Amino acid sequence: MPSNGFSLGIQPIGEIDNFFLKVITGSFLGELSIKTFILPPLKSPEYAFNKRKIQYDAGLIINRMEKMKFPEYTKIIGIIDADLFIPVFSYVLGEARMKGRCAIISLFRLENNPERMAKVALHEFGHLMNLKHCQEKGCVMKFSNNVEQLDSNFSFFCEYCIDQLNYLLKK
Ligand SMILES: [Zn+2]
Ligand SMILES: [Zn+2]
Repeated sequence: MPSNGFSLGIQPIGEIDNFFLKVITGSFLGELSIKTFILPPLKSPEYAFNKRKIQYDAGLIINRMEKMKFPEYTKIIGIIDADLFIPVFSYVLGEARMKGRCAIISLFRLENNPERMAKVALHEFGHLMNLKHCQEKGCVMKFSNNVEQLDSNFSFFCEYCIDQLNYLLKK
């Protein structure tokens, strides 16, 4: 299995229920055998709040996270309770740049459903590892921008994606 020195930081932004953080770290350990650490929370990102949309700009939060020093962690996933948007979508469940270091996911539309949280987190992590959207039925890397689509995916990667991930994690 992977994770030669690979470690993933889970970064709460604002107040996030500890149970949800544990669900997310558990899904990485269970699905990918990746060591995951919960970091001390950051305060609510008022710099990214858009008054007109009453939402937070996911790109601005990722930019800020990319500038922070997280020396111990290979990748960081931010978790926020507030609604997120990016310019081309009225809202997003999560956002990551291909091969980036930091991603963010929002619990806002997930209705406290732990399985949905795990799916969004694994999906954005896939992008951080350079995985593209996958057309394989049920694969967690399938694009979804609402909970109905999310619910039709599994909370794991298809054979093709998991092979690619394990390869990338070993590099
Ligand atoms: Zn995606
Ligand atoms: Zn796949």
